Amino acid sequence: MSITALKAAAPRQLATRIEELKRNVSGQVVLPHDDAYEAARKIWNAMIDKHPALIVRCASTSDVVRAVNFARDNGLPLAVRGGGHNIAGNAVCDDGIVIDLSQMKAARVDPVARRVTIEGGATLADLDAATQAHGLATPVGINSTTGIAGLTLGGGFGWLSRKYGMTVDNLESAEVVTAAGEVVRASATERPDLFWALRGGGGNFGVVTRFEFRLHPVGPGVLSGLIVYPISAAKSVLRQYREFVAKSPDDLSVWAVLRQAPPLPFLPAEVHGTGIIALALHYAGDPKLGEPLIEPLRKFGTPVGEHVGVQPYAAWQQAFDPLLTPGARNYWKSHNFSTLKDGLFDAVVEYIEKLPSPQCEIFFAALGGATARPAPASAAYAHRDVQFVMNVHGRWEDSADDKRCIGWARDFFDASAPFASGGVYVNFLTADEGDRVRAAYGPNYDRLARVKRTYDPANLFRVNQNIQPA
Ligand SMILES: Cc1cc2nc3c(=O)[nH]c(=O)nc-3n(C[C@H](O)[C@H](O)[C@H](O)COP(=O)(O)OP(=O)(O)OC[C@H]3O[C@@H](n4cnc5c(N)ncnc54)[C@H](O)[C@@H]3O)c2cc1C
Repeated sequence: MSITALKAAAPRQLATRIEELKRNVSGQVVLPHDDAYEAARKIWNAMIDKHPALIVRCASTSDVVRAVNFARDNGLPLAVRGGGHNIAGNAVCDDGIVIDLSQMKAARVDPVARRVTIEGGATLADLDAATQAHGLATPVGINSTTGIAGLTLGGGFGWLSRKYGMTVDNLESAEVVTAAGEVVRASATERPDLFWALRGGGGNFGVVTRFEFRLHPVGPGVLSGLIVYPISAAKSVLRQYREFVAKSPDDLSVWAVLRQAPPLPFLPAEVHGTGIIALALHYAGDPKLGEPLIEPLRKFGTPVGEHVGVQPYAAWQQAFDPLLTPGARNYWKSHNFSTLKDGLFDAVVEYIEKLPSPQCEIFFAALGGATARPAPASAAYAHRDVQFVMNVHGRWEDSADDKRCIGWARDFFDASAPFASGGVYVNFLTADEGDRVRAAYGPNYDRLARVKRTYDPANLFRVNQNIQPA
């Protein structure tokens, strides 16, 4: 029964149950008439405008258990919010319950065992702050306000991935609240089927309240920064970039970003607002060893600016935050690539020349290295052949521009499709891409569906890139 039907049938009964839930949780229950409601229902992507019936801001695993039981027993739609970054808006739902973990961020580092245990509502910034205090890190994404939960459950990659693998390759264990309201642990030796599914199968299997990751020595100072070329050099830079990445050691990660130049202080004023291709680089080893390796990146043409140096790893992890603030309208399209073809570069340049807003961009994240070594069936994340993930990031402010900006992203997606490998990163799927869910889970879909049947046979956790129980 939906909440609307429930309200109509038994308003007093529902109110009583919500009051009971309020008394029993140590966090807060936010309702539509509460002052906190408007802020609590907002997520990173301003295009998402959903109105949950109640938002439970959990303070503990016990709160999560109570909220899961409440949703199941009352037949309510259920969404789980980690960092609230997901482009498809799966952190919230209409007329149902949102289990909001954003208050649950505690982290504990064991520097000797090189492990961190962190709660399911933490952001990447929370994780980096805790681990970098010990000169340690694990591979995560490149925008520090992203949630560790959603990122990890979809696979997770960033500057350290070529060296240390996907985020899921570094997951040691997880604490999960299942659809039955049980608190279970999953690891290589405890419920290995669930552990396998959590490493790429999204939020389909339960609410992860705690993650345990392996850590690696990183920084604290890392060689990183941007080398910027004019868009007129884009094709030549992209060709050289492709050759360069193919020969790069795992320590070195270079991504290519095409967009209009933001007013960055290291770029001459006349470059601001013009088309650029920026090479964003990060070297995970000793900066002195990285210096000669990055030298060729400066010789792909005549750069219009450069900002490269040794800076704290945690600061580099936040370098792109100002361009990725919450509150803008966002629409993404994404492809995986095992190689980059010249025809793709022609399409990229054609579409960069008609950017529909100054905030739109196309980027290529270089994976390969350690991300490509595990077998595709070793974890639910299957895309071990991927050398590059491309994201077409449509981003703008005014809803009047929706049609134009979404149209641009879709048209370029179509133009670039002939060069793509067919797979897609599940965490980059938008709400209207249900037809790509099988491609996102790839050859692991059927096994995921069997694990889903074991842990969530009634598909309680379905506000996600959903796997139907087998
Ligand atoms: C600006 C930006 C930059 C990004 N950069 C990268 C990047 O560099 N690398 C990368 O890999 N990805 C990147 N992403 C994608 C990111 O991994 C996904 O958006 C991811 O879903 C975000 O996780 P979240 O917890 O913030 O999201 P949410 O929207 O809170 O959740 C996402 C999904 O996970 C589920 N979920 C959330 N928390 C839990 C939990 N505790 N237990 C069970 N299910 C849960 C939700 O129900 C939802 O289906 C980026 C996203 C943005 C917006």
